[in-house]
Amino acid sequence: MVTRLKATEPAFTGKYATGHYRGIFTCVCCGAPLFDARTKFESGTGWPSFYQPVNRRAIATAWDTSEAEPRVEVMCRRCGAHLGHVFEDGPPPTGLRYCINSVALRLKQPGDDGSAAIQAVVGGLYAAAVRIQARTPTSRAARTPAAVRRRTDRGRQKGQP
Ligand SMILES: [Zn+2]
Repeated sequence: MVTRLKATEPAFTGKYATGHYRGIFTCVCCGAPLFDARTKFESGTGWPSFYQPVNRRAIATAWDTSEAEPRVEVMCRRCGAHLGHVFEDGPPPTGLRYCINSVALRLKQPGDDGSAAIQAVVGGLYAAAVRIQARTPTSRAARTPAAVRRRTDRGRQKGQP
C-alpha cells in the first residue's frame, strides 16, 4: 500500500521508527540496498530518518505536489517503490533528512543470508560516494532539492512572457 499507492504510515507505528540498528536497509519490494543503518538518526518525527542513501544511484527523487507544500518524493531507483520524502533540515554532513516509511524497508543484518556480499558491495559504493563528495564539494550542493527548486524557479520566470 505504502510503496505502490504512495501512502504514509502513521508516525511512531513503523518497525524502524526509532532505535539503532546494524546492517543495511533494503527495498522491501526488490531488495536493492537503500540506506546504511549507520546513517540513521533520531529525528523525533516518528519515521525512520537517514541523512544519506547508500549511494546516489540507490534512490530516485521527484516532486510530490499532492499537498499544498510541494515535497521531494524518494523512490527506489531500481523498482520505483515509493519510500518517503527528503527534506533539507537534516544533520551534518549532508543536511538532508530522508524520511522513510518503515514498511518500505527490510533490514539486512550482518549474518543474514547473502549480507556479506551486500555489505561488501555497499561498503565499496559508500566509500566511492564519500570520495566523490570529497572531490567535488559544490556538485553535491547542485543536486540538493534547494538547487533544483532554484533552477525550477528560474526556468519558470524565463518561460513567462
Ligand atoms: Zn526497489
